[in-house]
This record gives sequence, structure tokens and C-alpha cells, in this order.
Amino acid sequence: MKANLRCPSCGGSVEERGGALACPGCATAYGHAPNGAPVMLTPELREAFRLDPTDNISAMSYDREAMDLIADVTAKGGMVLDCGRG
Ligand SMILES: [Zn+2]
Repeated sequence: MKANLRCPSCGGSVEERGGALACPGCATAYGHAPNGAPVMLTPELREAFRLDPTDNISAMSYDREAMDLIADVTAKGGMVLDCGRG
């Protein structure tokens, strides 16, 4: 997956540097969420939308069926993308 990531600032490819992702084209550094997933947010986007990495998948609660699906996917090393709708 990391080979396909592109820098949101300039569109260049990113590379691992000291355990983090960085863009050699524009020198933007990107972090990881607590679960290790790359966080491809520029510092400007983080500040504009007051975004901070969290262990939570969502601030909303999920029903039992959704929780079972999340547990199954994450146990297999997968990730869940909550696209929201509210
Ligand atoms: Zn860049």
C-alpha cells in the first residue's frame, strides 16, 4: 500500500524516513495513527480541521453486527474506513 501513497501537498511519492513517511519533493512529513496506519494529512489540513489521530474508528457507536465485522477485519490485519454519513 505504501508504494501507492502520494503526497497530498504535491502529488509526489513518499518514502519511509526514521519510521515515518516523508515526501522528498516538498519535505512534508506524515505520521502514523496509533494502529500504524499512515496519516496522510498535511499540517495545514490538521490545523484547519482540528484533526488529531485517535484509536477510535468513530465517535459514534456501532451495533453488534458492525462491531463483529470490525473485530474480524482487524484480527486479520485489515483496516476499517468509516466514511461517515452524518
Ligand atoms: Zn510532497
